[in-house]
Amino acid sequence: MQNSQVSKGRERSLFVLILLVIALIAGLVLERTTPPAYAENISGDLIILASLQEQPPAPTPAERIMKALSSAYPDRIGPAEFRNGDWAFSIRGTWFYYAEGRILPERLRNRTEEYRAMGFNSNYPVDLPSWESTAEQRAARTRSYEESRNRPPTPRTTEPRPVVRRPNYFFEALWNLSSRDEAWAQQEQIDFLGFTLTIHSGISQQMRQINQIILNESRTNASVRQWINAIGTIGGWNWRNVASSGNRSFHSYGIAIDILPRDLNGQSTYWLWSSGYNPQWWNIPYSGRYHPPDVVVKTFESFGFTWGGKWSNYDTMHFEYRPEVFILSNIPLAHPRRSTVN
Ligand SMILES: [Zn+2]
Repeated sequence: MQNSQVSKGRERSLFVLILLVIALIAGLVLERTTPPAYAENISGDLIILASLQEQPPAPTPAERIMKALSSAYPDRIGPAEFRNGDWAFSIRGTWFYYAEGRILPERLRNRTEEYRAMGFNSNYPVDLPSWESTAEQRAARTRSYEESRNRPPTPRTTEPRPVVRRPNYFFEALWNLSSRDEAWAQQEQIDFLGFTLTIHSGISQQMRQINQIILNESRTNASVRQWINAIGTIGGWNWRNVASSGNRSFHSYGIAIDILPRDLNGQSTYWLWSSGYNPQWWNIPYSGRYHPPDVVVKTFESFGFTWGGKWSNYDTMHFEYRPEVFILSNIPLAHPRRSTVN
């Protein structure tokens, strides 16, 4: 009797144990097979709440841009960090804050209303967008052009516009210059495709490598050879403002290069020049625009130079050194800038 009671008790605890094991296995299986909470079709709010809980919050533009700049110029900009309530990094001992897209030095960080936000392109295309894919954009431009032609001129407002300046502090600090004389002191002359080119010494190493790659290519590639032979001028450093906007041109820092043929043969290269004879310059087809060989464009891009031929306000002779644009556009650079200059 006692034995049978003991054995019944053992049986019961064995039964409970087995139940526990089954429950545990079922739980594990259910957990694996149940779709994540955000996939359940409950309600919009719940879906957003669940996905917020499961994924780390997306970085803010401040974090994204400051980190991209810091890693684009590791030899010139310190690591980005969250400091005094904003994302910041230091350049030669001066702290720069994101400051709502103005990237201002510490002493001006709260004076955002006096400056315009700087645009950092995060959608640089790997390839030239197809002509078809730009059709709607071009049509919209044509429509607004036609509308503006038919609209009676609007009377001038008497209220003065607030003066909002473009902040040049960041790029001036990055390239260590703030006047024409200081800019000149940073420049170096190099031989580039047979021309003497004046550019910022901070990109001369990259430019020499680009020169070598293009010259090597020209030995086996006839179209590259013909393109080089047709070059009329190559321009680099030039202290000036962008003709249409009054903004400081990247040529002023010595980090932009214009390559022009001796004869454009009627081709368009800079939208502003073409707008003088063709008010609908945006409808000039790619075939009607000067276009360096693709391998040349790709070589410049692999070092972090953007090509103006991909801008909607195109400038097909123009390359400028902006490695942050590639980082922000998630395009890997074959030749990234290194943290120490050799
Ligand atoms: Zn240019």
